[in-house]
Amino acid sequence: MSLVVMKFGGTSVEDPAAIARTAAIVAGRVASGRQPVVVVSAMAKVTDQLLRSAAAAAQGDRTGALAISSRLRARHRDTACALVKNAADSAALIDFIDQKFDSLDEVLRGLAAILELTPRISDLVASYGERVSSRIVAAAFKERGIDAVHVDARDIIITDSQFQKAIPLDGVIEKRSAEKLRPLISQGKVPVMGGFIASNEAGITTTLGRGGSDFTGALLGGALTADTIEIWTDVDGIMTCDPRVCPDALRVKVISFEEAAEMAYFGAKVLHPATILPAVKKNIPVLVLNSRNPGCEGTRIISLAPHCKSPFKSIAVKKKLSIIDVVASRMLMTHGYLSEIFAIFDKHKCPVDMVSTSEVSVSLTVDSNEKLPAIAADLSQLADVKYEGKKALICMVGEDIRGQNGMAAQVFAAIRHINVRMISQGASEINMSFMIEEEDADEAVRSLHAAFFQNPDPAIFDVEARKGQLLAPSS
Ligand code: ASP
Ligand code: MG
Repeated sequence: MSLVVMKFGGTSVEDPAAIARTAAIVAGRVASGRQPVVVVSAMAKVTDQLLRSAAAAAQGDRTGALAISSRLRARHRDTACALVKNAADSAALIDFIDQKFDSLDEVLRGLAAILELTPRISDLVASYGERVSSRIVAAAFKERGIDAVHVDARDIIITDSQFQKAIPLDGVIEKRSAEKLRPLISQGKVPVMGGFIASNEAGITTTLGRGGSDFTGALLGGALTADTIEIWTDVDGIMTCDPRVCPDALRVKVISFEEAAEMAYFGAKVLHPATILPAVKKNIPVLVLNSRNPGCEGTRIISLAPHCKSPFKSIAVKKKLSIIDVVASRMLMTHGYLSEIFAIFDKHKCPVDMVSTSEVSVSLTVDSNEKLPAIAADLSQLADVKYEGKKALICMVGEDIRGQNGMAAQVFAAIRHINVRMISQGASEINMSFMIEEEDADEAVRSLHAAFFQNPDPAIFDVEARKGQLLAPSS
């Protein structure tokens, strides 16, 4: 039977109606003879609120922290009551929710007493979102005739102890999946677990980092060698660009792993970049689907994308970046200089997005962050340093730009009215990236989209939707 890991994001479980839709989607998969393993996020916005409660408690605002927790408790209780009518199941579910929120309140009171929030406790507090959402979803599934079993993800997804961004231990995860999930699967049961949350080998709660539920889905897909991984969100799939910026945006029907990873790295928020890796390793296709529009075929991410008639698949944008310029005549004819520069970024644990070098200067881009002054101070030991914020990175992704003549000329011609601050183009890259001022980003995307997506290849892009849009009355 074909195994499908189905991951539902926060908006797909945000309220009783969304959870009921999700149950119908899963029931549909079961009815068509597939074996699902389900991963869910916390209900929409819950992780943010949990982290806010922890921060408030650690600043001594005990009342504020407990008030957030009490609102969350009510939201989860109400959701549970609306979904589960069977008296015994409902009582057990409410009891579970109350127990979890009682223990969360204890943690918050502790934080308010010691006034310190460590990464480890932050993960513990954040974990409650997925712990309760997954339990509610499992009960809602059961009530709707799905043979669901709630599984605590922390028994399966085992990581190292880097709290807040723990690294999964693939071998252990595979072993745990074989021991704890396989038996359920072979009985035809549907395991339901929380994404994002995990534990280290000592059983202490960790998390995979914000947005990490997709990663859980991919890890499970890899460990169980699933046939497909489905990422259910609230958009129709990967689009050629942000439809809020450019209403002409088209759904991309099929894209390669490499292209999707590039886009994710450069800020397209549909899926977590690391999602790609466990799936790629085992060659498992990932489908991005819309739980509000389940009839839409979404975007299929596969190892080798079919040839596309147009050069680009998508335009991704990442805002809130800074450019750092390091200029030193010392760099002329020497070696080891770049490694010294990167060592400083490494020391501050600051990832670098884009790099461009000349004989005497290196320009780098990073997320604008509070570490920049410290990084600049360290760099100034080596060279003259300048940095500037409010920049945006535009990343044009497409495998078919490799070896095409005149591509750069076409791209920059399309935005000739915009000031380009920095360019990077690697030898075998599947993206063309450049930095502009943040305020020019939307206009640049619209100009590029108009230039490159005028005659979209119907094998790759959903051109029907554009026809529909053109026919739809304008509102
Ligand atoms: N709930 C977590 C977050 O908001 C993980 C996820 O939804 O992917 O970051
Ligand atoms: Mg997400």
